[in-house]
Amino acid sequence: MAAVTADRSAIRVKQGLGRAVILLGPPGAGKGTQAQRIAQRYSLPHLSTGDMFRDNISRGTEIGRKAKALMERGELVPDEIVLGMVEDRISQPDCAKGFVFDGFPRTLPQADDLEHICKQYNLGCTIVLHMVVDPALLMRRLTGRRICKAGGHIYNVYERPPKQEGICDIDGSELIHRPDDSEGVIGERLAAYDRQTQPLVEYYTLRGLLSPVDAMAAVDTVSESITRILDGANALK
Ligand SMILES: [Zn+2]
Repeated sequence: MAAVTADRSAIRVKQGLGRAVILLGPPGAGKGTQAQRIAQRYSLPHLSTGDMFRDNISRGTEIGRKAKALMERGELVPDEIVLGMVEDRISQPDCAKGFVFDGFPRTLPQADDLEHICKQYNLGCTIVLHMVVDPALLMRRLTGRRICKAGGHIYNVYERPPKQEGICDIDGSELIHRPDDSEGVIGERLAAYDRQTQPLVEYYTLRGLLSPVDAMAAVDTVSESITRILDGANALK
């Protein structure tokens, strides 16, 4: 009997947080991997605006039709359409237990509206995981990427080098350094990211919602820090 009770409480702890979890961090900080792990551990839906667009377009909703027309003209989809779609998604029953958002919000109006939507749907305080990186180490990690021409196998000359330089361990094909992974391109992406994110970091810090996470640690260590933060927040509920 005791074992059954323990089991149930374990399941309850892992079933959702009743909060929005947001990951803020630059490209290469491991947001996608961690978002997936959080979704799995707490059985939360993993939301992305990209998936929402695809879903709305395939279902032919009004939002989907508007967004499709704009994207086909190469125009930016305005905040009100994005937010309409986000609210529609959050109103679904599976989001009552909370959700993980990766890549959203990107702007202050989006962050502000997301807070309103969460209140409206009775979700607890948002948890913002700020994936803190060391810019020099991140640059090294990103410029060290090499991709196998034949199978897309990914290596890193600093962190996960192939046995033989320039050759894929798995299929012996050539490893290439994509122009997107050059220092100039990555430097620009990271600078643009900083400009865009700084106001969000300030916004969430002011509201006491930001939890820093050392994103340069090993991937399992990062997951452990995140679990401690989320379990701690869950205990306070
Ligand atoms: Zn390969």
